[in-house]
Amino acid sequence: MLSDWWAALLDIIYPPRCPVCRRPVDAHGAWCPVCLAPVLAGHELNLAGRRLAALASCRVLCDYTAGVKTLLHLLKFRGSTRAAASLAWLLAARPEGLRPEGIQAVVPVPLHPGRLAERGYNQTELIFRSWSERQGWPWLDTLVRTRPTAPQWELTPAARRRNVRGAFALACPETVRGKTILLVDDIVTTGATMNECAKVLRRGGAARVLGLALAGGDYGR
Ligand SMILES: [Zn+2]
Repeated sequence: MLSDWWAALLDIIYPPRCPVCRRPVDAHGAWCPVCLAPVLAGHELNLAGRRLAALASCRVLCDYTAGVKTLLHLLKFRGSTRAAASLAWLLAARPEGLRPEGIQAVVPVPLHPGRLAERGYNQTELIFRSWSERQGWPWLDTLVRTRPTAPQWELTPAARRRNVRGAFALACPETVRGKTILLVDDIVTTGATMNECAKVLRRGGAARVLGLALAGGDYGR
């Protein structure tokens, strides 16, 4: 009762606004239709054409453009953790294709410890973790990056594969053994990073690895 009252009062003091253009919207965290329309462009990566054999599938929810690009930049390079909630709202805005069958755990693509210390958080965790747990899927932070890698967006497709080869390891293989894993990342470009992580998970005994990225585009970093 009191919390309802507080929520109503807070709505008056801080009315919900679109995180991109600040137009008034119905609920906190929601995007207005004008900002949502250009970014919603879900598709499957064509795995066969990209030598990504370790992934069973790889779904991309949005184009890396407009509001998605702005908010991801704020989250990754300006320390704005509030942007994560606005990006996570997009997961709920795209229910189709977001209930893959048989998922038993969710594993994020990890940052190198140096990058993690510098940023203070893994942006992929801030975007996906609450959503994953609401689906009833345990969050397994079990992949580790064993060496720093150059940003993928600077490289050609062949160089991207070389850049990430052998860059990941599994901390606790027993947690993924025999399971269907949803591997999540903020941005997918060629899919080389996702596929390298999927390879490590499969080698550790995971039965299947499905990829899911918030955004796809050629300018990811
Ligand atoms: Zn807007």
